Amino acid sequence: MQGKHFRNGSASSTHRSGGHVFRAKPSFGGRGGKPSFNRGSKPGGSRGGYGGNRGGGRGGFRGSRFGQQFMDVSKFVNKAVITEETTHFKPEHNFTDFKIDEKIKVNILQKGYNEPTPIQDKVIPHILANQDVVGVANTGTGKTAAFLIPLIDKVMKNRTEKILIMVPTRELATQIDDEFRVFSRMLSMFSVCCVGGAPIGRQLANLRRTNNFIIGTPGRLKDLEERKALNLSQFKTVVLDEADRMLDMGFIHDMKYMISKMPAERQTLFFSATMSGDIQNLVKSFLRNPVSISVKTGDTAKSVDQDIVRVGPRNKVDVLQDLLRQTDFSRVLIFGKTKHGVERLKDALVARGFKSESIHGNKNQSKRQRALDLFKANHLQVLVATDVAARGIDVSDISHVINYDLPATYEDYIHRIGRTGRAGKKGKAITFID
Ligand code: ADP
Ligand code: MG
Repeated sequence: MQGKHFRNGSASSTHRSGGHVFRAKPSFGGRGGKPSFNRGSKPGGSRGGYGGNRGGGRGGFRGSRFGQQFMDVSKFVNKAVITEETTHFKPEHNFTDFKIDEKIKVNILQKGYNEPTPIQDKVIPHILANQDVVGVANTGTGKTAAFLIPLIDKVMKNRTEKILIMVPTRELATQIDDEFRVFSRMLSMFSVCCVGGAPIGRQLANLRRTNNFIIGTPGRLKDLEERKALNLSQFKTVVLDEADRMLDMGFIHDMKYMISKMPAERQTLFFSATMSGDIQNLVKSFLRNPVSISVKTGDTAKSVDQDIVRVGPRNKVDVLQDLLRQTDFSRVLIFGKTKHGVERLKDALVARGFKSESIHGNKNQSKRQRALDLFKANHLQVLVATDVAARGIDVSDISHVINYDLPATYEDYIHRIGRTGRAGKKGKAITFID
């Protein structure tokens, strides 16, 4: 099992800021703000942020491809202001109020969580009451603990309980698995992380041992089910995390297959950042009298300074190099469109003396993880990534996100820039424009 920490986290939405957008050089200097929520400051506690909002695409941009001539570049310019509204959130509960085992509370404290986030505050009591739940919340709002904490309690009350957690990406599965281990410390409770791109033999062996939590991506989970390594009739609880992303990524048939093999008498927890018609249909077919909870707070976290850089006739890598030489570009995540383009850009940066690595679909899981690890441990200045590979990753203190290639959709843009500006800090995002 991998023991790496990739946290998932907030994405922030832009806010329109008028037409004064064509600057040759990025300039920053938005107003600062207070961190959004109390955050544990214990050693080893969480440094990741939450409190970001993930606004879906707004205006005419949603789902549309960025045609060069129709591009509204003002969408890529924003002075960071950290929202006030989230600072006023008063949870109804404390972690100590929840009717969960005291040992779990110790682990929560150990993790450094002082008080529940809004989604945790609202959802945990319903999950504890064995209800089906639909949680609509932006990325970075603390959904992982919202379902892990009550489900760990469920297993403590019944050690034969089996729980399936389906997520869209390998990184997200690993991240949830890592968090599971923190919250279940000393509780003799085990998980198996079942993702594609990792050796299946090991997963098959681990599945034969005692475990309560299976966390994985739909494709690999289906594969394991078909090999009879997973008996879904034993699973009375299922979590679909980031269901909208699973749909986007074409996992619909695998998801439906997995659910169809589970008992009808079960608890289903469904999380999504958006609620399209397709998603609502899934909710209707998978859940029974669900409690719906939405904590989408407003539209913008505005915690990311956003600007554009006009490349013009200059060489794009030269422009990038000039930026990377500036001292504050200490931990930079760069997005490229294609796997090959990402690899080429990484090679070009290495050749120019920048400590760089890449993550994309042509790399196997262990190489991706190693690259992320180096980035997290501050051994790299630059990580170049594709959208899919970077989905959900939570690396704290990313100083800049650079859109070297334009994102395909506004929603991708929001997702990309949400990798910075976390934990109440201001982030900076720069988008290259021809
Ligand atoms: P989501 O799944 O909604 O995108 P995560 O569960 O990945 O969000 O949480 C985002 C970040 O916020 C993580 O770094 C996590 O450790 C942190 N976090 C979650 N809940 C709390 C809490 N109650 N107090 C402090 N930090 C929290
Ligand atoms: Mg999550």
